[in-house]
Amino acid sequence: MKSRIVYGPILSRRLGRSLGIDVIKNTGSKKNCNYDCIYCQLGHVELKLGSPEDVKEAVTPKEVSESFEKFYKDVEGLDYITFSGTCEPSLNLSLGEMIQSIREISGVPVCVITNSSLMGREDVRKNLSQADLVVATLVSGIEKTWRKIHRPAPCINFQEIIEGLRELAKAGDGKKLALEVMFLESETGEPLNSTDEEVDCLIKTIRYICPDEIEVLTISRPPAEKWVKPVSEERLREIADRFISEFGAEKVRLVLKGKKKKAKVLHRDLEEEVYALLLRRPCTFEQTWQGLSIDPESLRPVLEKLLAEGKIEEIGSKNSVYYRAK
Ligand code: SF4
Repeated sequence: MKSRIVYGPILSRRLGRSLGIDVIKNTGSKKNCNYDCIYCQLGHVELKLGSPEDVKEAVTPKEVSESFEKFYKDVEGLDYITFSGTCEPSLNLSLGEMIQSIREISGVPVCVITNSSLMGREDVRKNLSQADLVVATLVSGIEKTWRKIHRPAPCINFQEIIEGLRELAKAGDGKKLALEVMFLESETGEPLNSTDEEVDCLIKTIRYICPDEIEVLTISRPPAEKWVKPVSEERLREIADRFISEFGAEKVRLVLKGKKKKAKVLHRDLEEEVYALLLRRPCTFEQTWQGLSIDPESLRPVLEKLLAEGKIEEIGSKNSVYYRAK
């Protein structure tokens, strides 16, 4: 099935209702990324990309504008247009140009969700600085833990990421940098990034970077590695309290649950829209109909057809079934 450049709308815990844009073509690869995170909701794949120069299937600014113009008027009540999806958006070096044209077309604020891997590059920072909001991942201040969690391509340098994040935060200019700190635990009891030592080191690193916001959260979807578990709400609150005492309540956001906001959406091809969403974000039945603003009864036959055709699969547990594109 052909994947669309613009997908959604999706409901997210951080951004409310947003329309997503994927800037690398999905030609057979489940994800186009230079990390292979243990918590990735898209599953595990072998890394084929390290830097923007490795990208063979980049979407062009013209393709983004045309696809966006076609779909965005079908959705009302958008909070953000978000560059994310099955790829690391900063791998596309035309990102800055795309952000500018999307803002001109819609007037809706633009967000880029990035794994931070290319922050050391000036051209990438320049692109990112066009966005109204950059949500950048930082899982640890300790390189060994960062490697264990992200399993990055060999050319990616941890220290350059920290320095790059600091540079981007300094650029300011009315734009916001939010650090997304995803806390994880391991089923085996092996410490990951939620220990006291890790939290102390993260605080030091965040103080050095000086972002506008810090988001504290844990996984909510089935991860690539089954042994990775979410941090308990109690521990997450403890960590958020420590961050608040260091950085102030106005800077720290504890992300626990998604907002549910209604939007009017005109549906042209429901099957294609459902597939496009599940390709970027595994969803439960409820999350799918809520995100796309459709009647649950119309969704059921679409999911059954996609399952029967082998285009999507069920993952998660009996009590919490997620649908994901294959
Ligand atoms: S979680 Fe994001 S950064 Fe990590 S492997 Fe998946 S797509 Fe890449």
